[in-house]
Amino acid sequence: MNKKSLKILIVSLMTFIIFFGIYNIKKIKSLRTSNNLSYNENYKSNIKYENENSIEKVKANKITKDRQFAGDIIYNTSYVPVLMYHSIDYEKGNELRVPKELFKKHMQYLKDNGYTTITINELYKFINDNKPIPRKSVVITFDDGYKDNYINAYPILKEFGFKATIFVITSNIDKDKRCLNSDEIKEMSKNGIDIESHTVNHDKLNELSYNKQLQTLKNSKGFLEGILNKKVEYIAYPYGLYNVDTLNAVKTAGYKLAFVTKSGWCIKNQGIYTLHRVYISANHTVNEFKRRLTNPEYYKSK
Ligand SMILES: [Zn+2]
Repeated sequence: MNKKSLKILIVSLMTFIIFFGIYNIKKIKSLRTSNNLSYNENYKSNIKYENENSIEKVKANKITKDRQFAGDIIYNTSYVPVLMYHSIDYEKGNELRVPKELFKKHMQYLKDNGYTTITINELYKFINDNKPIPRKSVVITFDDGYKDNYINAYPILKEFGFKATIFVITSNIDKDKRCLNSDEIKEMSKNGIDIESHTVNHDKLNELSYNKQLQTLKNSKGFLEGILNKKVEYIAYPYGLYNVDTLNAVKTAGYKLAFVTKSGWCIKNQGIYTLHRVYISANHTVNEFKRRLTNPEYYKSK
């Protein structure tokens, strides 16, 4: 190879190296740029995504706040009216018997004013587990287990699609014709009417020994569970009477809530075994019924 050829080779090599170098630098630059771009795009879309998320979060918060504000949900600081009826029939001079026409007007008021009837089990979950319930929740209860609850109240409750609870005296079942029989309580129990205990003999619990109290609490529970094939966990004390022994005995017998007859809306701090109810009688026109449902201050003070 002569000198001239060597020069040409070197120049060619250098030219190739320079061009190759420039090409690579350009390529790296363009790669960097595109990487930057895609990073930026990703970054932008992340921001967008996060923004959308926060918008959704804000929206969700607003809905929750609006719901709270609109009062669709109340929490366990709130009172619930638990209505206490007895017989649904007419008897002159006996205010414990609410004529069925008046009872229907009461139910119509609940329907027209957007009330939701809840079961005692739902009330228990609200009290015990803070499970929300509709703002206008109401519990309908009947004491003693009169046959007219089946004849007069049950068809009206069915018509309105309302839930209710009957506290029955178990020794009267299938014995006293004025009271519910086992077929009737079975049928109602399957159709939204909860059957719970009112003791065996309408006992004045505060006059019984602890053991006698435990007996009537357990026996009435066991008797109903045998007929209805479901758990019986709630009780209303006859005449609303109880003492310290009662509070221990109901717990030992396996009850989850107990009701007295003391008038007022129900709230947790009354004690789960001494919950108040709203007394409803034949003297209570729709206006008085409304007052008892819409005037919490009146009931809180009782
Ligand atoms: Zn009673």
